[in-house]
Amino acid sequence: NYILAVETSCDETAVAIVKNGTELVANAVSSQIDSHKRFGGVVPELASRHHVENITVVMEEAFQTAGITMDDITAVAVTEGPGLVGALLVGVNAAKALAFAHDKPLIGVHHIAGHIYANRLMNEFEFPLLSLVVSGGHTELILMKEHGKFEIIGETRDDAAGEAYDKIARTLNLPYPGGPKVDELAQKGNISIDFPRAWLEEESFDFSFSGLKSAVINTVHNAKQKGIEIKNEDVAASFQASVVEVLTEKTWRAAKKYQVKQVIIAGGVAANKGLRKGMEEKFRNENMDVFFPPLSLCTDNAAMIAAAGYIAYEQGHRADWALNANPSLDLENYGNKIK
Ligand code: ATP
Ligand code: MG
Ligand code: FE
Repeated sequence: NYILAVETSCDETAVAIVKNGTELVANAVSSQIDSHKRFGGVVPELASRHHVENITVVMEEAFQTAGITMDDITAVAVTEGPGLVGALLVGVNAAKALAFAHDKPLIGVHHIAGHIYANRLMNEFEFPLLSLVVSGGHTELILMKEHGKFEIIGETRDDAAGEAYDKIARTLNLPYPGGPKVDELAQKGNISIDFPRAWLEEESFDFSFSGLKSAVINTVHNAKQKGIEIKNEDVAASFQASVVEVLTEKTWRAAKKYQVKQVIIAGGVAANKGLRKGMEEKFRNENMDVFFPPLSLCTDNAAMIAAAGYIAYEQGHRADWALNANPSLDLENYGNKIK
């Protein structure tokens, strides 16, 4: 079984081929970061145009690395949403054209399901499982009792974790995407500023980062006005301490409540050094495994879409030729028809 997957939901043009659900035989990613950098964020029209220009090149690269042809492919999986509609459309149309021309089944994949399934390229899932998804657009605690079924038990009420990182980076004059740079700075700083932690209601597994973000911006701004010197390293370390404490504590509480066997972290912020360390410490004495994807599979890639697509394929899900990009695709209710 070979699943070919296409991912174009944001600013990465990606094609991957996965053998038997877990063996990564090709993982081609073309990042557009350099094109969007000067605008300080992703420009949707630019992203779509780059996807159109890159998709066939990335596709060819994947086939070359894998050393196979379209004849060997079992099914074509593609991110149908959520994401930028123009960007998604390029991938969806490329996947449809390919599947149709070669008479292969087509499978639509939810981008966040993909982020979660990146972990299955390393470890078999054991249910019930709790996933903390922390990415550029999402911060969610998701309970899974079986493959392909997602129950959102908590989510952000304002900014996503990655979004907060990127905004703090901008405040500290770091280039886009700032998440990894803030993480780097945080390693060198001291947790010397007491930023707020948003716990919300006692039983809530929801998150909020806008108060923290404002506190950081105000602190930096006030220091500048009063001529007080504060180190960017210390701001980064103190900000990261707040984010990591809330993420780890809420994940731990949810994991205990639902008695899960595994905790899997997913999305771009799963690459964060502070979060990795914090989670490992928090779960050290618990009888649960905590998994993180390898760094290259934390941010957007098509390998994760292939991993999720494989399970959908095995479960008998098939999309039809009417498959369309859905920028606000819902995780709990998505799913292709079972054939
Ligand atoms: P979504 O998956 O929600 O649609 P996205 O695809 O844009 O959003 P990802 O590619 O999963 O998001 O992750 C990108 C985000 O991860 C960016 O906000 C980036 O700053 C953040 N990020 C990446 N590495 C780190 C890190 N080491 N520390 C903190 N944040 C990071
Ligand atoms: Mg990206
Ligand atoms: Fe993503």
